[in-house]
Amino acid sequence: MGVNYSHLLIAKDNDFRPEQSQITALIEAWIESGFIIPPEMLSEKERLWSHTGARIVTKPSLIDPPIPSEAPKPRPGMWAKVFPFLTGERPRPRVDRFPPRPFSIPPVGESLAALLEPVVYIDWKPNGRATYLFQTSTFKDQNGARITAYPLRITLTDDFQNPPLDGYADEPLRHINGRCGCGANLEYWEYEFIRRICPQCGAAFRPQDQVAETKDVGGSKIAITGGACHRFSIDIRCEKDAPIAVTGPSGEDVFDSNGQLMISDPKVSVAFMAKSAEALGIELQEIGVWY
Ligand SMILES: [Zn+2]
Repeated sequence: MGVNYSHLLIAKDNDFRPEQSQITALIEAWIESGFIIPPEMLSEKERLWSHTGARIVTKPSLIDPPIPSEAPKPRPGMWAKVFPFLTGERPRPRVDRFPPRPFSIPPVGESLAALLEPVVYIDWKPNGRATYLFQTSTFKDQNGARITAYPLRITLTDDFQNPPLDGYADEPLRHINGRCGCGANLEYWEYEFIRRICPQCGAAFRPQDQVAETKDVGGSKIAITGGACHRFSIDIRCEKDAPIAVTGPSGEDVFDSNGQLMISDPKVSVAFMAKSAEALGIELQEIGVWY
């Protein structure tokens, strides 16, 4: 089991990618239920990140194009002779070729059009004033506090993302194999991305015809039809703070008969699942990804 954790809500139909209107409805439902803070209620400090609280990144492909080769260095001239430190290797400024842009809420204009790009990520920073997304929680820290908010991301892609469910499993686990019926290999970047349409025979890839394996927090193997293969996800990015503690109705710790804190696979709240599925008009499933 990996150290980092992402909790995905994906469509039961792995091939699903929402229309612009469905994303608009989803964001509206999240605001109504307090899962995200609407732009007009953000503090000055929160607005510094993005005036709406959300940012968008779009890319032409799941794989970043190669970085163009470095331009030849100018010969050291007079200034280098005067200031010898100028001849030393200086770090080149990092160029972000797909910089985040503010995302309008509700999505209009450029933000709405961007939802049709081949690869789209919409990000919200964690906000402690937003409604907690899970029914499980993190363990209390030394001050008795738990994590109450996580970064939230919506991902839309033309091709499939196929993350391994348990990147550091103690035994080999089955993953979705991106081979077309005609024999063509549709995978790229190992098997983490799979072409949606076979360039050789034109067939659409169907993750639903396969089963991927993972392990629950108790170590038992479980099979998931279609794995985490998706073109759309709601991604709650827990990183090192996976909410695996079982929590009682008043937020208290729950112990088993041996006096051990009870753990469970993370689970989103009933309200978050229901409101998200209703807004999109589809069935969702929740899948944990350890990496
Ligand atoms: Zn094919």
